[in-house]
Amino acid sequence: MSDVVKVERRDVVAIITVNNPPVNALSAAVRRGISEGIKSAGADPQIQAVVIACAGRTFIAGADITEFGKPPQPPGLGDVISDIENCPKPVVAAIHGTALGGGLEVALGCHFRVATKDAKMGLPEVKLGLLPGAGGTQRLPRAVGPELGVTMVVTGNPIGAQEALKNGLIEEIIDGDPAAGGETFARKVLAEKRPLRRLRDDDSKLVAAKADRSIFTNAAAAANKRNRGLEAPLACAEAVSWTLDVPFDEALKKERESFLKLVAGDQSKAQRYAFFSEREAAKVSGVPEGTKPRKVDSVAIIGAGTMGGGIAMSFASAGIPVTLIETGQEQLDRGLGIIKKNYEATAARGGMSADEVAKRVGRITPKVGLENVKDADLIIEAVFETMAVKKEVFTKLDQFAKQGAVLASNTSYLDINEIAATTKRPQDVLGMHFFSPANVMKLCEIVRGAKTAPDALMTAVSIAKRIAKVPVVVGVCDGFVGNRMLAARSKQSEKFLFEGALPQQVDAGVTKFGLPMGPFAMGDLAGLDIGWRSRKDRGITSEIADALCEAGRFGQKTGKGYYKYEGGSRAPLPDPDVEKLIDETLAKLGLKRRQISDDEILERMVYPMINEGARILEEKIASRPSDIDVVWLYGYGWPIYRGGPMFYADQVGLKHIADRLSFYAKQTNDPSLEPAPLLKRLADEGKTFASLAKAG
Ligand code: NAD
Repeated sequence: MSDVVKVERRDVVAIITVNNPPVNALSAAVRRGISEGIKSAGADPQIQAVVIACAGRTFIAGADITEFGKPPQPPGLGDVISDIENCPKPVVAAIHGTALGGGLEVALGCHFRVATKDAKMGLPEVKLGLLPGAGGTQRLPRAVGPELGVTMVVTGNPIGAQEALKNGLIEEIIDGDPAAGGETFARKVLAEKRPLRRLRDDDSKLVAAKADRSIFTNAAAAANKRNRGLEAPLACAEAVSWTLDVPFDEALKKERESFLKLVAGDQSKAQRYAFFSEREAAKVSGVPEGTKPRKVDSVAIIGAGTMGGGIAMSFASAGIPVTLIETGQEQLDRGLGIIKKNYEATAARGGMSADEVAKRVGRITPKVGLENVKDADLIIEAVFETMAVKKEVFTKLDQFAKQGAVLASNTSYLDINEIAATTKRPQDVLGMHFFSPANVMKLCEIVRGAKTAPDALMTAVSIAKRIAKVPVVVGVCDGFVGNRMLAARSKQSEKFLFEGALPQQVDAGVTKFGLPMGPFAMGDLAGLDIGWRSRKDRGITSEIADALCEAGRFGQKTGKGYYKYEGGSRAPLPDPDVEKLIDETLAKLGLKRRQISDDEILERMVYPMINEGARILEEKIASRPSDIDVVWLYGYGWPIYRGGPMFYADQVGLKHIADRLSFYAKQTNDPSLEPAPLLKRLADEGKTFASLAKAG
């Protein structure tokens, strides 16, 4: 038939096998092959049933996303699925691995579905800012009911074979070879003369929600609860709602229109960019081809504080045992207590069983004393952020760690090269910078020191992926990529207070843009006393922040900071006392408040970060603009529909950004705001940051 789709006749059953490695994506050739296979089987008088199965490690795992945005090539997926559904003979989808997106839509066009027990099925299009555009929004709810249907389409999360069986998405769980399992099931269908189940004609699962629409609307609202500004999940819910009141064929047309609108929109463009950027980040530049990571079977984490505990949880949750090391039993007990409480909180929300909690906690072995690192292949240090303490720890690690172990520091700002120099094995030293809370945040900046060996670097990248983090390799500088850019923003937020803005105005500018938290709410969360102490150590003053701390306002922990917090709530409330304190401080300094527009707030919060990003690229601290975007997406909650700061900059236009930065540099007498040379050059040449990636 074709290179990627073969049809084999096993007596009266035709087996259509898709073989398009690695994931059997639905390329135009695959679509054509399936359609031709179905038509020929339908017309062949010897054939009584058809099975669609896949070779390799998975069923069709999705559309070929490289085709998005290009002129569509026939046949369209919707037409192929209609061919399947219209086939006069029973068609069985035999699923193994993952049936995702267009893959599940193909299976939903079949009259019956069977799956192996570890198979997963879902419609994740929403995660790329899209909706399933080939009938998925109409057929899935008819298979599993509108409640689970809308949940799956809106969240994009897949379900396993057991849940699929329970909810009617599949008929049976099969063992062994999927094509053989599908064939056995097809023969059963023939023997029992089962009627063909065309989902488009089957409204049986919709009856209850048609009579009482709240069944659907409640599920749709719950699925959309965490949606912050994304269009696609709303479009997904709307499309599923059409199952209740729009005839099937018309609903398919509306679904297609909605898909085309989303695919052409800015949000999906940004979300697809984010998807590709994450993949790209895993490709590390400057590492010799074929470099293999070192073997990591055991891990030690030093420090059971905020970060060490969260990092230990990430390993334990991924099934990797860790030794958690502290200076004393008391610190260890406290750290382990918090870990247990965190897991138990997840269990209480229904996120895991008590058994699972015990299993995960059991993977963490608490120990006092650094000599306990001796068996570890990877050691991650998460002690206090002081160079002297880090040096002391790494000197001891050099003494106790086995040869070839990778020694990582979780430092936020300190110089990895200086830390490495305290050991006789700087080639094994690097940074693994996790983000707080480390058990939740997906980013891990992998900091490559001047002497870090390529295989040590790849070990860190590979282990980060194993614990479900998103690794981005960065170079050594103060604050690496993320915190260095954040510092550029913090400088402006602090200045705003001296110019007349209030914390809530600045924070609102940032949250309206789509970031989860503004700088002042973030400061209150982290604790204002940390910066205060560090300023005192360095002999620096920041009059407003200092005055707050002198008044005992340390942030959330004291119930008051830049905001007030009432009744144990974490919700920041604007506080007239803070406005008064700001007014008094400004009066003392002889400064006058001025009206600051929301546009200025947004531009001065975001553009200086982009400017710093440009410097980071120039200095080769990050290898690509998209790496910087991945850092912000996964480390700081940058809204995915804005792609990341560098992507956003390209959308706004670098010329405009450079001009505005120059303007603010003069207006606020701040030379740090002058456009970085790279930004200026690209702006003058009418180019984008993306053009750098293309130029290699
Ligand atoms: P923390 O104060 O909560 O924890 C540090 C722990 O290290 C303490 O429990 C302490 O007892 C232990 N410790 C100190 N010296 C030790 C030694 N010699 N041996 C064993 N244990 C020792 O601090 P944290 O917030 O978890 O920060 C740890 C590191 O992570 C710092 O380098 C920090 O910059 C970095 N970091 C912090 C965050 C954050 O948001 N808190 C985010 C990213 C990175």
